[in-house]
Amino acid sequence: MKFESVQKKTVILNPAENMARKTIPSEIRIDPLTRRSSRICHFMKLKWEKPDFDKLISGTEKMCPFCPDKIMKITPCFPPEIVEEGRMISDDMVLFPNIAPYDSIGAVATMGSRHYIPMTEIEPERIAKAFRLAMDFFRRFRDTGNEESVYNIINWNYMPPSGSSIIHPHLQVFSSSFAPNLMRNELDAAKIYMETSRTNYWDDLVKAETADGRRFLGKIGRTTWLTAYAPLGVAGDVLAVVDGVRCTLELTDDDLSDIAKGLTKAMAAYDKMGIYSFNMNFFTGAETDDHTRFHLLFSPRTFFNQALATPDIGAIQRLFNESVCMAFPEDIRDMLKSEW
Ligand SMILES: [Zn+2]
Repeated sequence: MKFESVQKKTVILNPAENMARKTIPSEIRIDPLTRRSSRICHFMKLKWEKPDFDKLISGTEKMCPFCPDKIMKITPCFPPEIVEEGRMISDDMVLFPNIAPYDSIGAVATMGSRHYIPMTEIEPERIAKAFRLAMDFFRRFRDTGNEESVYNIINWNYMPPSGSSIIHPHLQVFSSSFAPNLMRNELDAAKIYMETSRTNYWDDLVKAETADGRRFLGKIGRTTWLTAYAPLGVAGDVLAVVDGVRCTLELTDDDLSDIAKGLTKAMAAYDKMGIYSFNMNFFTGAETDDHTRFHLLFSPRTFFNQALATPDIGAIQRLFNESVCMAFPEDIRDMLKSEW
């Protein structure tokens, strides 16, 4: 396992100190699996101002398609060959087709009837229950024998900085035979890794990170939690890897509860930095992909400028796919560790 990096230095004449020379360090990190690069630079204190939530949320429930007074009237239904009853229901959670699908089989699952749940009030039981509803959908879809039932993915965009236009907590749930970009890169690279080294990359990563400890957060059940070595997010990413699991459908009920617990720990820790939004994606292999392990990424999102709604993604990330992280992942680990 090679954790490569390239050190850089920038010299400026600093007006705050009579134009004295000042050296600013930065680092380019290479992801050990895909060789994707990520820049640790633009250092700043990881502290943001939260918005006035009352003002932000006020009135949004009136137009919200996921609130209980509208959901059963406004949301679409699956055709009977996919979900006989049209929508899948688990108490106050509803799963229905995504009206703006990314692929042929796309669903949305609401995480209950409550319109706005502050990040630190999202209970692990609620997350696990929503995951279970999505898992039921994946299983039912698999049992139809449809060829799209290969990669079963749950994504979560929580609050507007993450790209969500709806406040009401919900998951994106989809099955596809086509792995999305980064997931596909990882699967291809993990396959080559296994052919070359005769071991599983993810097992090796968990072993190396657990022994090293600098990015290790903790282990819950058989899920290991780390800060990512070459993160995608400006405030780092939390990575969770599940031992012995190749694909989403191999997750047990206990795994789902453990993952939910870990996610709420990440939320509690980032909340202290003023973060109130995140993306979360499942990364899964196909059923027989022995070269991979199920993992997920939790990536905190923020506005650089709250008043202007300046996104945390600029040209370097958007068009070069080059990430910028404003603190070392080892330091971010120290900031998050107290929750584990
Ligand atoms: Zn709502």
